[in-house]
Amino acid sequence: MAAIVIAGAGVTGLITAVRCVRAGHQVTLVDRGPIPNPASSSFDQHRALRALTPGDASATLAAATLHQRWLRLQELLGGRFYRRIGVVTGWPADSVDAVLDLARQAELSITLLAPTDLPHLVLPTGYLGVQETDAGVLLAERVLHAATRWLRGRAAVTLRPWRAVVAVDSDAGRLTLDDGTVLSGDVILLATGAWTSDLVDVRTVLHRQTTVYLQPPADLAPWWERAPIAGRVGACGHGWLMPPGAGTLLKLSSTELCRAVPAFTAADEDRAAARRHVARILTDPDRYTVAAVKQCHYTVAARPGDAVLARPGPAVWARAATGGDGFRTAPLIADHIVQLAAAGLAA
Ligand SMILES: Cc1cc2nc3c(=O)[nH]c(=O)nc-3n(C[C@H](O)[C@H](O)[C@H](O)COP(=O)(O)OP(=O)(O)OC[C@H]3O[C@@H](n4cnc5c(N)ncnc54)[C@H](O)[C@@H]3O)c2cc1C
Repeated sequence: MAAIVIAGAGVTGLITAVRCVRAGHQVTLVDRGPIPNPASSSFDQHRALRALTPGDASATLAAATLHQRWLRLQELLGGRFYRRIGVVTGWPADSVDAVLDLARQAELSITLLAPTDLPHLVLPTGYLGVQETDAGVLLAERVLHAATRWLRGRAAVTLRPWRAVVAVDSDAGRLTLDDGTVLSGDVILLATGAWTSDLVDVRTVLHRQTTVYLQPPADLAPWWERAPIAGRVGACGHGWLMPPGAGTLLKLSSTELCRAVPAFTAADEDRAAARRHVARILTDPDRYTVAAVKQCHYTVAARPGDAVLARPGPAVWARAATGGDGFRTAPLIADHIVQLAAAGLAA
């Protein structure tokens, strides 16, 4: 049995903790706030689960297992947090064959949609919809609560909410907490998301994304309840939306509302600008009520090809660049950590 210490109780920390306990290890999970923490990047109504990554065959193949992984996690953790409603992405008609080829290689289940199948969305002229069917919405907050419930009360788990890591000794493999406690383990994972660079030297670029939450008009609610996630939509193909359902709102964003920023700053909510962007995604935007506008951060690798897990020291690993797909891919990080623990025990 290995001792695993995890800093950060977002999706990465929580799912890794579950996986490590299942593999027979002793786990300590620390967060500077409550567990789960509403201030984490993971805490939101929805996150998309999909595999198709056009232009990246290896990412598509790796992600092809995630649908089954999340179904199994749902069964293990209990509750309903995976809505398998499909994910449709818009593509110019002349590039659809290449997208379908990639889907075939990864054995993904795919359906082609015409713009008339998505009557309340704008698609760029000449675009078709490619729908992944074994894909959909992860109800993110529910995932975090389900994992926390599962971990609570297990003999192999120590949860330490409201304790910030203030120093990391990457060579010795030790974390110092704000009450002076020092934690050490066989494997230490920094799952501290966009705040990891405060603790260790990692090269990442901070991104801020604005999302707009909408209430659809009552007469369209039944259509939206059955709608898939849609990406690469809107007049310019930059829009993404999560349909409402299971108590969530319709959520829209756009790659135009995602930008690299030098630092975390106070929210600069600009409802008018956000509304202008989303107006390009919906066919009848004035009929929707804006319920909220939110800003959230995540980090991406500063150099393409940097490892998914950075290694600031011999016994310390960091998921510093979670990227825009860091929620759905959390089980893959959990696998890495379990493999590292097993390798350490075998050595
Ligand atoms: C708007 C938006 C939309 C997204 N959409 C998707 C999507 O559709 N699909 C997808 O897969 N991904 C998506 N992502 C990315 C995904 O949400 C993130 O990559 C993922 O949630 C990161 O999880 P994490 O657990 O690594 O980090 P976080 O969730 O940020 O958790 C980090 C935790 O570390 C804690 N912490 C920080 N510093 C310390 C410290 N010093 N001591 C102790 N604790 C500390 C924090 O309190 C926090 O709880 C999206 C991100 C954004 C912002």
